[in-house]
Amino acid sequence: MKTLVIGAFALLSFFPALLGQTTNKEVMTKNQNLKELISEVKAKADSDQHRRIEKGLLQAFSFWREEDGTFDDFRQLCLEHSATTSAQRQAMFLRIQDNFELLFGSFNKISVGLKIPLHVDEGEIIPVDRIFGGYGAGSHFSDDMFANKIAFITIMNFPFYSLDEKTELGPDWSRLEWAYARMGDVFKSRIPARLLLDYEQIVTNADGYISNYNIYVGKLTDKNGKTHFPADLKLISHWGLRDEIKASYAIGEGFTRQSLIYETMLRIIRQEIPQEVINNNEFNWNPMSNALMKDGKKIIHTPEPDTRYQHMINLFGALKNIDVYSPHFPDYISRKFEEDMEIRVEEVEAVFVELISAPELKEIGKVIEKRLGRKLQPWDIWYDGFKTRSSLDINKLDKMLQEKYPDKAAFEADLPNILVKLGFDTDSARSIASRIIVDPSRGAGHAWGAAMKSDKARLRTRIGTNGMDYKGYNIAIHEFGHNVEQTISLQNVDYYMLNGVPNTSFTEALAFVFQARDLELLGLEKSDDQSRHFAALDNLWSNYEIMGVSLVDIHVWKWLYAHPEATATELKEAVNRIAVETWNKYYYPVFGIKDSPILAVYSHMIDYPLYLSAYPIGQLIEFQFGSYIRDKNFAAEVYKAFTQGRLIPQLWMKGAVGSEITAEPAIEAARSALTFLR
Ligand SMILES: [Zn+2]
Repeated sequence: MKTLVIGAFALLSFFPALLGQTTNKEVMTKNQNLKELISEVKAKADSDQHRRIEKGLLQAFSFWREEDGTFDDFRQLCLEHSATTSAQRQAMFLRIQDNFELLFGSFNKISVGLKIPLHVDEGEIIPVDRIFGGYGAGSHFSDDMFANKIAFITIMNFPFYSLDEKTELGPDWSRLEWAYARMGDVFKSRIPARLLLDYEQIVTNADGYISNYNIYVGKLTDKNGKTHFPADLKLISHWGLRDEIKASYAIGEGFTRQSLIYETMLRIIRQEIPQEVINNNEFNWNPMSNALMKDGKKIIHTPEPDTRYQHMINLFGALKNIDVYSPHFPDYISRKFEEDMEIRVEEVEAVFVELISAPELKEIGKVIEKRLGRKLQPWDIWYDGFKTRSSLDINKLDKMLQEKYPDKAAFEADLPNILVKLGFDTDSARSIASRIIVDPSRGAGHAWGAAMKSDKARLRTRIGTNGMDYKGYNIAIHEFGHNVEQTISLQNVDYYMLNGVPNTSFTEALAFVFQARDLELLGLEKSDDQSRHFAALDNLWSNYEIMGVSLVDIHVWKWLYAHPEATATELKEAVNRIAVETWNKYYYPVFGIKDSPILAVYSHMIDYPLYLSAYPIGQLIEFQFGSYIRDKNFAAEVYKAFTQGRLIPQLWMKGAVGSEITAEPAIEAARSALTFLR
């Protein structure tokens, strides 16, 4: 059927309703009708609108379903609403933009408001609060806008541009053209609610599997049957296991503990782990020999039946069902990278490979070996001995801060002063601070931005009855960085459609830059050269680990799309093979040990597929932005960067720091740290 769809009308081949229920003849008739309609609409319009009309009508029609009306209904809609002049189109844009601001801003305000009893540490939570808190005011927005035809009108006048088009055309676009393109991103897919529900259910199942995957390490035994951990210690895979490896560097029998955990991880990845020891403390288990014991007697065990990989297969199936309803991003890989992150997967891979191939890593490996007094082991990808701790007395610090900030009002009143200390002039400091409300949080803290200019951002952190302690303050400064970004990128960006930042990494970048200066803001220590150099080594080494893991995640998903009928067992073999290949290529040269599949242990690979890459991309952006801004006029650079609004990441970065996202600053910083150490 696809071969019958020709030329410019190839987009129709993505149209599920047509493909599913109609005959070839009908498709050809619709193509002919659409071709005639485009000519008809063009004939009424200025010639500078013709290309947009063709793109817009094709895209709008690709979302048109039987329930939306007949072809003639579509025709009437286009004739009535497709702009005929650029002035008309601009007027339409401004009206739609205002209305989107009102809608998105109000949805956001309702969510913030309904969740106040759950998020803000004031008064009791009563049962009805949870129901209100779960209400999503905007959850039917997309369905409603397709039903009342606003979505079609928006698409036909402000069509979607792919990431490739944005990359190629974007540098020459005016701000208004960029804003038009962002309007074209509002309605990118029309996924039936039942498929989204299916997917949510499968994610919930995978989540449940991961969050109940505990190992009773107190029951792990060595070859002599001896245990090495506190008897009742239970650790979740893989985060708890990994953190125990990190903590064990400081312990006498650390090496034995680390090797027991490492062998446990390998058994999980290979699914050789006895089903009996998962979330169960009745058995002793030697992960080296895989022997299972109860009351001193050997037990025949059942290996876990590839459940780990079955969850991935289930997720893949649910996501593949959605593919056809997302014509611009026809597979999950493109949805995660081109749609969510807005960086092509090939670019992400290239920058990861650049970092994990850096010759500096071999040298850092030698430094670690020297510090540990032994050869590197595969689990040393989690070595964290470069982290430096502050020498300040935490109790004194708590007392000082509790006096300075006894309540939320005291901290809120100090926000302009903090900004002035960071280099903002008094007027902009006051104007930014006036748009931020401080609340004591029930949880650890967060920053919740406004989504319309008339609303304010919320800064939430722990404020105890005795006031704000250091932990609360440290988080508050991080969240304040988010709030400053949220405020500038909403209030000072020229078009509402461009408000915000390209993706969450960019707001984290500013939050971490703020947080790193928390002590300096109190008139206490500034970070010295030594701790900065150690931080650079830590940064490169931790990126080395997470980037390898992310590459495995990406290659596994490419393999899944190439083998859509794969079973859980076949997937298990592929994951192990991909992890070992990645290890041998990029880790064996540094570690001197071959064939470890350890990079496949990450639990997010199972319950949040393709989420992992966002961490190291975020770390690179933070590092690049942080290094660039260190010796510059802080306030001026923050305004320059964040008033750009939501461009695509690579263009935003170019505008902010003069170059695209690269691993070079992180490698360079490690290089000078190594020189410093020598
Ligand atoms: Zn943050």
